Amino acid sequence: MAEEAAKREKEAQQKAAREREESAERRSQAAAKRAREAQEQAARERLARQLMAEQAAQKAKEAEEAILEAEAIRQAMAEIAERMSKLWVAYEKEFGCKKAWPRAGRKSDAQVPGCTHRMWWPRRYGSEECHFCGRLCSLYTLRCPDCDVRACIPCKIEQTGM
Ligand SMILES: [Zn+2]
Ligand SMILES: [Zn+2]
Repeated sequence: MAEEAAKREKEAQQKAAREREESAERRSQAAAKRAREAQEQAARERLARQLMAEQAAQKAKEAEEAILEAEAIRQAMAEIAERMSKLWVAYEKEFGCKKAWPRAGRKSDAQVPGCTHRMWWPRRYGSEECHFCGRLCSLYTLRCPDCDVRACIPCKIEQTGM
């Protein structure tokens, strides 16, 4: 009988030891699973952060490009405006006349009937209106020596053919 009891005791000890082992195994597996999940979560977060950083960088780049483009357009416009104003300055210097083109309404009664307007007209210095197109010539007008009519250079050329 004592031998039987000893055997049962040993079996019970072995069973307890097995259960302890299994329990330890389960605990270590659970810990490994938690560690793996934490790692995966960290990787996902890292990826999301990286993606957000890339998107932010892309947006910043696009904004910068838009600013550069707007600046290029502004510069091109400014260059055109400057060229235009230089042209006008050159025109006014040449003709002493402010913006004769496009023409204002014609003053048809400016022409004196019967005058053929000879070819050569002397300059008449001073700010005066062109009798033909009505524009203000700030430097000088040309004057017909016969009928005394005043004209800007383009109108004089139109009247006399040169
Ligand atoms: Zn004349
Ligand atoms: Zn004129």
